[in-house]
Amino acid sequence: MLYDNHNRPVNYLRLAVTDRCNLRCFYCMPEEGIQYLPKQELMSYEEMLRIVRMMVGLGIDKLRITGGEPFIRRDMMDFLGEMSRLEGLQQIHITTNGVVTAPLVPELKRLGIRSVNLSLDTLDRRLFHEITRRDDFDKVIQTFEALLTHGITTKINAVMMEGKNDNDLVPLAMLTKDHPVGVRFIEEMPFNGGEAHYDQLWWSHRRILEVLQDQFPGLEKLPDPPSSTSYNYQIPGHRGTVGIIAAYSRTFCGTCNRIRLTPQGMLKTCLYDDGVFNIKNLLRAGASDDQLGAAVLEALGNRAKDGFEAEGRRLFGLRVSESMATIGG
Ligand code: SAM
Ligand code: SF4
Repeated sequence: MLYDNHNRPVNYLRLAVTDRCNLRCFYCMPEEGIQYLPKQELMSYEEMLRIVRMMVGLGIDKLRITGGEPFIRRDMMDFLGEMSRLEGLQQIHITTNGVVTAPLVPELKRLGIRSVNLSLDTLDRRLFHEITRRDDFDKVIQTFEALLTHGITTKINAVMMEGKNDNDLVPLAMLTKDHPVGVRFIEEMPFNGGEAHYDQLWWSHRRILEVLQDQFPGLEKLPDPPSSTSYNYQIPGHRGTVGIIAAYSRTFCGTCNRIRLTPQGMLKTCLYDDGVFNIKNLLRAGASDDQLGAAVLEALGNRAKDGFEAEGRRLFGLRVSESMATIGG
């Protein structure tokens, strides 16, 4: 088992396999003018496989594949197949926008993917187009239906945006009535590749909870799994659950068990840091697995205690503004 300098166990790696995306979500990327990383800057599948295998040797047993949009990287399913055969890696999860995912769902089931987080901020096709700047609502719904049909544990991620999807909170929560899904409402963070959208956080975790409590009397608090980033609730009589992720308020840092790798190989020990070192560069310079592992351990030995300290330590841009597509969420 891996521990950081604050004695938190670390067993969860979030791997962003690409910075490319087929949507342009308002809260994540600017509409135009995105500069993607040059291809040679991205980690190859061979490099990712070697790094993940090394990290599994250190104590990582849970992996999330994210991006950008993971399924627009070529040969993604072959890579997932390799990952699913990695000894010691107990769980693989995926976060996807669902645009090209529906036909792949049977294969995801066969590979034993533990769960899929599907990003869906609205149930209104017109508003979906406005938020994502693409008209792909139907394809995402097809993915949702395929995931349910194949019995893959599914969570919906909805970022709450003032003046955009305010009226979607209740319809999205109502998805839990007949479907065994977890619908999680996320505070919007300023990771949008541009200027901050607001001068304050309008949809805070407290306000989200107030609206849920108001609309669903008897909303019941559920026990949260260890290291959970969401506060979880059940609406009486519903099959699924609702959750609230205080991503901007950062209430969950005390039990954070996760590290991140960006598409260009930057290791992040906190979502809010600007990367502690580039493991791909070290690997390309000829480092052995032992040397790579030692560098990871050193980074974990100097981990910020929370997202506020990590943000305060940033060297490149004091406030976060990079696109979430370069981090993976
Ligand atoms: N493209 C995939 C998707 O959208 O599911 C995976 C990558 S995306 C960066 C991962 C998650 O980050 C999504 O659920 C998205 O809603 C969330 N996200 C992106 N930008 C965000 C922001 N500024 N604040 C809060 N969540 C954000
Ligand atoms: Fe793409 Fe996901 Fe970012 Fe939306 S949230 S632009 S789908 S990476």
